[in-house]
Amino acid sequence: MTVLAVSQEQLNRQFEYMTEVRRLLTERFGGEAPKAFSHTYGCQGNVADGERINGLLEQMGYEFTDRPDEADFILFNTCAVREHAEERVYGNVGRLKEFKKTNPNLIIALCGCMVQQEHVAKRLKSHFPYVDLVFGTHVQYRLPELLYRLLTEGGRVFDITEDDDDIAEGLRVRHNHPFKAFLPISYGCNNFCTFCVVPHVRGRERSRKYEDILADARALAASGYKEIMLLGQNVNSYGKDFGEEELFPKLLKDINDIPGDFLIRFMTSHPRDCSHALLDTMAACEKVEHHLHLPVQSGNSEVLHRMNRHYDREKYLETIAYARKKMPDLAITSDIIVGFPGETHEQFLDTISLIREVGYSALYTFIYSPRVGTPGASMPDPVTATEKQQWFEELQFAQEQVAAERSAGMKGKTCRVLTEYRNKAGRLCGRNPENTMVEFEGPDELIGTFVDVKITEPLTWILKGELAERV
Ligand code: SAH
Ligand code: SF4
Repeated sequence: MTVLAVSQEQLNRQFEYMTEVRRLLTERFGGEAPKAFSHTYGCQGNVADGERINGLLEQMGYEFTDRPDEADFILFNTCAVREHAEERVYGNVGRLKEFKKTNPNLIIALCGCMVQQEHVAKRLKSHFPYVDLVFGTHVQYRLPELLYRLLTEGGRVFDITEDDDDIAEGLRVRHNHPFKAFLPISYGCNNFCTFCVVPHVRGRERSRKYEDILADARALAASGYKEIMLLGQNVNSYGKDFGEEELFPKLLKDINDIPGDFLIRFMTSHPRDCSHALLDTMAACEKVEHHLHLPVQSGNSEVLHRMNRHYDREKYLETIAYARKKMPDLAITSDIIVGFPGETHEQFLDTISLIREVGYSALYTFIYSPRVGTPGASMPDPVTATEKQQWFEELQFAQEQVAAERSAGMKGKTCRVLTEYRNKAGRLCGRNPENTMVEFEGPDELIGTFVDVKITEPLTWILKGELAERV
């Protein structure tokens, strides 16, 4: 099987369009660089897409601003995973109408998962006439061509073509962070969990070529990046689409072997495919953080079955037990959905007991949101929104207790932290291997470096500490 990729010929065509757009923009703005405001909603995968799109914009001559009111190009890279995310976008797009009055040259563009849905594209077409450009998740690399059409033909350009041959290599990426980088290894998803819209808006699972990922990782390490986060909806099934089993552990090991002082994280691991081989590799690779994001969604096997997750509570707990045996210091985080259609309170209590049993470092908790086109959306859902809200609060309360206990156990311990920034209170902040925020006093030169911090005052969500001698 071959890797699905955009042909060199198609890429060359986009490079030609880039040159043309740059020329047109220079004419339109009298030689001054036009300004782009680019905002991404949603998961890290979407953020990584945003960084690629910004790379294209930069090559076409745009400079970036964080003020939409002074922008000539406004882009919202949208998320569709829950209704709330979509409502926010509609609200924020509505507010942009005003800016068109003061800047007739303004281009308003929307891309990402939300607009990949036909019903959303239709609504934008009919109700948001001031949105000029809409492009879906499969045609991002064709932004130069789409922008060219908009600039030369006028009117509005909508393209939500579904085409899985869409991995475009060799394009410039404009990283948001100076020393932490996202590195996508696969796109799309084949799992079809019954609550989830991702496979519908992102298409089938497509893995990037092994060598292309390694080359990116080498380049990131060589330019001084301190953290590389490998991304995929299900990193454990990396390579299965070109007929390889267990390729992700090998990839992890090969990236680990790249010389340099950096650490490696990855997400997301689907519990069904989280193999012993992966956990053994994690344990053996010194650059791989002992942090596993293993979204369980529910602690009840019957609910998991109806979610089409392909594992049950017992299998999940076995994976955790093996992982902890291999890495006693392992931090585990998870995603939980409260109020999946048909879930009873008793079944929900299994989720509470599971989170106590596992002792998660952090949880991302969501109330179920029906998504158009998913099986969940047509399942009977008798529990009221008020009840689900109560369950949600019960869950948060339980997790807070779990997190407080875990934090308390950190008192007096020393952990390695990648120093990231100075907060408003004037203290340095960074994350420890568990991905928990750590706060301490220190000079600016430490930003972007690894330090050892001794925890003196553990709070539930933040660990306060002081610089320690290197251990
Ligand atoms: N590929 C990842 C998850 C991607 S979506 C995995 O399988 O684990 C991120 C999280 O959003 C999911 O883990 C789930 O908890 C949540 N989510 C997805 N669809 C949802 C929905 N319809 N309602 C509420 N939460 C949802
Ligand atoms: Fe959605 Fe399930 Fe795929 Fe994750 S594995 S993206 S939850 S369908």
